[in-house]
Formats: sequence, structure tokens, C-alpha cells
Amino acid sequence: MKRTLKSVLLAIIALYFANIATAQSVIDAPSITPIPVQCKLSATNYVPFTAVTISTNDASALKWAKTHLSKWYGKYAPEVTIVPYSGEKMADDAYSFVVNDNGIQIKAVNIVGVRYALFSLRQIVIPGRGTQKVESYIVPRGEVCDYPTMKFRGIHICWFPENQEWEIERMIRMAAYYKFNYVILEQWGTYQSRVVPWLNWPNPPMTKKAIKRFVALSKELGVTLIPQLNIFGHASFSRNVSGKHATIDIRPEYRPLFEPVAGWNWCLSNPETRKLINAMIVELLEDFDNPPFFHIGCDEALKPSCPECCKQPYSELLVDYIGSVHKILAERGVRAMMWQDMLLEKGDPRWHGYKANGTAETAKAAETLPKDIVICDWFYKKPRQNYESYTYFKSLGYDHLACPWDNRDGIIAQAKAVEKAGTFGVLATIWNHYSGHNLANIYVTTSSMAWNTNATPPTELNKFKTHFREVGWDSNLKKYRQFGIFHTQVPPTTYYNPAK
Ligand SMILES: [Zn+2]
Repeated sequence: MKRTLKSVLLAIIALYFANIATAQSVIDAPSITPIPVQCKLSATNYVPFTAVTISTNDASALKWAKTHLSKWYGKYAPEVTIVPYSGEKMADDAYSFVVNDNGIQIKAVNIVGVRYALFSLRQIVIPGRGTQKVESYIVPRGEVCDYPTMKFRGIHICWFPENQEWEIERMIRMAAYYKFNYVILEQWGTYQSRVVPWLNWPNPPMTKKAIKRFVALSKELGVTLIPQLNIFGHASFSRNVSGKHATIDIRPEYRPLFEPVAGWNWCLSNPETRKLINAMIVELLEDFDNPPFFHIGCDEALKPSCPECCKQPYSELLVDYIGSVHKILAERGVRAMMWQDMLLEKGDPRWHGYKANGTAETAKAAETLPKDIVICDWFYKKPRQNYESYTYFKSLGYDHLACPWDNRDGIIAQAKAVEKAGTFGVLATIWNHYSGHNLANIYVTTSSMAWNTNATPPTELNKFKTHFREVGWDSNLKKYRQFGIFHTQVPPTTYYNPAK
């Protein structure tokens, strides 16, 4: 009996320690997305979030910090003090902070780093415990020292007719929160043009007012908003699979501007096309407040199908046409960006496994186009052994961006290949993923790799859900379908509809 009791007691003690070990092993220290270069934060030791001291040379950081901390924390926002920057030399986009008994001490040369420090802090500051409503905020003790691997950290967003303004706003806010520094906004028949109002779907939602608001918002949050206009293929401003055409479905009189087959390509030989495209570019540059880049698309074009475009080598026509657009941009100090696939010849063994859409004719253009064009190299599949196109475009003299989509391993491999090749950076693409796990994965994985190529991006998405909610608060969202990473919890077709 005695022996049995002893065994039971030993078993209880063993279970007790096993439980402690299990409990400890599941506690994660607070983390930040993208993952900082150095980050040590306590899981259990928090201090009041009441005082922030910023060591910087940029006086504008004080107003930014006070304004945003007040928006985020209301009457419980911490006191902010600015002191002159001291310490080691730091890059413009680097920052560090320490959290201890003296509060929070941030170091950043200018407002770029200060913003990043405050975005990082926002992810780890939580309401004080033990009350029903928020009565204070607390922050874990620790240290963070951080700077990005890549100079160009972009994300490409589409504005479809199906998108609402608040969705685009949240994409921009989320991009800034995850420390991307460029957002490309592609219009899909949704741009309210003054010079060619007939080019798009009726009642286009991408109004002057919305663009102006987004340009100002982007500047405030530290991202540069870049416009896109497809000047070659994708002239229908609709997904090819849909068979829609934003212009000639409603206004067939404008067909001479487009190639006869599907209206998919602009008619490059038509001088009226050039006039129209150039006028629209100038208008977009004004609307976007003279950005440093302009994306001209140029992917997935078809062969020419009108007699005038077929009369001459298509590469010569293409180079001349892009050259005229390049001139309009260069005169305004703006660099063109374009997709790469028409510059890679289909069937060329070097591009085996790539989505090479070019002919021998269009691929020739890679050699003669102006070399200040930024090549945006999209590749959406699983990792490949080598990304030969990176060094190909670099050897031709171009700045090159890797453009992954939603394949996590692919994003990681492409970012590592950028670092290895020493190319320009990364441009994430969202395309049709406006909600759900794909969207979360794109933001989390691409921002993580663009910021810190040595880190392993997190696979769990609950923190993204928190961050998505936080930027939703910033937009003052109020409607059911605006919350969460899915618009609905069950597909709309499964709702009980008493009218049926
Ligand atoms: Zn033509």
C-alpha cells in the first residue's frame, strides 16, 4: 500500500513538472512582422507604456509620433519627448528601441526610421490586464535593432470594378504597417480619367478625390504610391478569362485603337493610340503627385492582328512605341517599370519553366530598350534551382525586381535569389487575393523576406489577423463584411433566402 502511494505521488510530481515544461514550451515571446534583425522581448515582464523618448535629428518626427500615438491609444497615449540623435551612424531606414524601467527609448536618424520603430512597437503594445475596459497600455521589456535588407520593397495592388475604396485603403495601410516602401496601384477600367472619360467602365470608383486621399495617406504612412497603365497588352482592362473589355463592350466605335483579336493589345501603329496613352500618363502623373516611377505593364500581349502592325517587325514597332512613352516619363524625371515576360522568348531553353510569352521578335526588344527601365520579373510557381532571368536582365544593365505571388516557398526562394544576384528588390503581387489566407501569406511572407532575408517568415496567421484589425480601426470601418480576413464566414450562396 505504502509502495503504491509513493508511486502515485511520484507520478503526480512528474505530471506537475511535465505540465510546467509543456506550458513553458508553448509560450512565445512577442514578435514583430517583418521579423527584425535583432529582437529580444520578454513574454512575461511588461512595463507601463507611458513615456517614449525619441533620439532623432528630424524635428518632424515629434508631430508624427504624437498624432499617430494619439490615434492608436487615445487618452492613454504615452508622453513623447524628442532629443538630438546620438550614438553610432545609422541608415535612414534603420531604427532601434529599448524598453526598460525608464520607458521606451527609440533611436532613428529621421522620420523614416521613427515610423518603423512605432509600427514595430504598435505590434507589441497591449492593453493593461485585469480591467473590463482599456485603462492603460503595457509593453514588454526588451530590445530591437532593425534595418531592411532590400531598398525596394513594393507591393502591387489591383483596383478592380469589384473593389471598394475601403479595401484599397486597407491594402495601402497594411503595406505601410509591414514596412513596404512602394505600392503600385493598377487600374482595371476603374480610373476616372478627365482626358479619356470613355476608356473605362461606367462610374469608375478610382476617382480624383480617392487618388488624392490615397496619395496623401501613403505619404503620411511612408510609402510611395506608383500608378500603372497597361500600354501594350491587357488593353481590355479586364482579366482575359472574363472576356470583358472596359472600352469596346460599350463603345465599339473605338475599335481602331485596339488589335482586332479580342481587343487585347493596343494598336501600336495607330498614332491616335500614342496620343491617348501619352495624355493619360501625364494625367496619372499629375493625379499621383509626380511619383518617381510609373508602371507601364507590357505583359501577356498577343501577336499583332491588324494589317498595319503586321507590316513591320513587331519588336521595332514595340521599341519605338515604348521609347515614345519612355520619353514622356523621362522628361518628367520618372522611371518606367515593366513586366518581363514579353522580353523572354517562348521556347528559348534558358527560360525553361518560366512563363516566357515573347516571340523572337519581342524578346529582341530587351537589348534595345532604355536601360533605366525597371524590369519587374513575375514568377508564381514553386522554387526553381536558379533564377537565370535575374542575372540576364542585370547583365543587360537593368534594375530588376523579383515579383512573386502567393507561393510561400517561391517567395522565400526568390528573395534569397535577389540577395545573391544583388538586384534591386522585391515586388509582391496580390492580383485577385483581396481576402483570405492567400492575402495574409503574401503580406507576411513577402514583407518578411524583403525586410530580413535571413529570417524564416512566420506561417501562423493569427498575428496578421490582429494587424489587419488594427489598420481597419485606422480606417474607421463599421460594416460586418469589412471585418476579418474573409468578407463572410459562409459562402453567400448557402444563406437561407426566404424570398426564394
Ligand atoms: Zn495594329
